Amino acid sequence: MASKLPSHAEYVVIGGGIIGLSIAYHLTRLGHRDVLLLERDQLTCGTTWHAAGLVTQLRANETMARLAQYSAELFRDLENLTGQATGFRQTGSITVAATEDRLEELKRGSSMGRSFGLDVDLISAAEAQRRVPLLDVSDVLGAAWIGSDGMTNPIDTARAFAAGARQGGATILERTPVARILVENGRFVGVETSQGTVRAEKAVISTGLWTRDVAADLNWSVPLQAAEHFYVVTEAIPDLPYDMPTIRDMDARVYA
Ligand SMILES: Cc1cc2nc3c(=O)[nH]c(=O)nc-3n(C[C@H](O)[C@H](O)[C@H](O)COP(=O)(O)OP(=O)(O)OC[C@H]3O[C@@H](n4cnc5c(N)ncnc54)[C@H](O)[C@@H]3O)c2cc1C
Repeated sequence: MASKLPSHAEYVVIGGGIIGLSIAYHLTRLGHRDVLLLERDQLTCGTTWHAAGLVTQLRANETMARLAQYSAELFRDLENLTGQATGFRQTGSITVAATEDRLEELKRGSSMGRSFGLDVDLISAAEAQRRVPLLDVSDVLGAAWIGSDGMTNPIDTARAFAAGARQGGATILERTPVARILVENGRFVGVETSQGTVRAEKAVISTGLWTRDVAADLNWSVPLQAAEHFYVVTEAIPDLPYDMPTIRDMDARVYA
């Protein structure tokens, strides 16, 4: 039976992409049961369903790297925690460097990662090609290999967060757009939705690229903007191993 819009919640999470669903899940894991997530259309209908689902842990700074490391560990365990399959596969990843500057960046990122336990190896071009024979390494100076990187199905992973959040007591409502964030005397007091008003103590705005518009309601400037990217979906390629590691070539601005 579809849940009804409650009149009050401790937390209102606005937006049912992977970020909002993960936040709802984590709030319930922290012991908050009065969590309401509102999605204007269907869960994952925003950016999340487009994602390739690559899970990588090599990041430009420690905070992002630690978050990514936590995510990879969580994605590995999420199916057991929630009972919902995520499609996570630990295929490993190879990031190649075609310039000295990129190699320096990989070395720096690798030693930072290693300092907090990320298993990352710097490997030669020949070793990269041994791991992925299809790789053309003629201009590759070196590469970083992370065995614990992988890929997941973004929709199923988001569904797993939704399942876990519901198990923890959260209410998740689809087709319930938030029309307005309500503020009284300078304090957040709730949200106005297509189905009525919810009084709430705290809100999380997790509306992805729509956050700029949602936050504009509060006269907040959130500098987010969609950018155009291109991707190619191929037919099955006969010699491509199912568990091929993810390949990243930042200098060519491409991953596969
Ligand atoms: C082609 C492509 C490939 C990608 N590949 C990867 C990858 O390999 N690995 C990776 O980590 N990331 C990848 N990403 C990025 C990833 O998809 C996003 O970072 C992620 O999905 C963002 O999630 P989100 O929850 O912030 O946003 P969204 O998924 O966009 O969710 C926002 C939600 O808010 C809802 N919403 C908006 N306004 C309202 C409102 N007023 N009331 C209620 N709900 C509202 C929307 O309907 C939407 O469902 C890729 C992205 C694209 C486009």
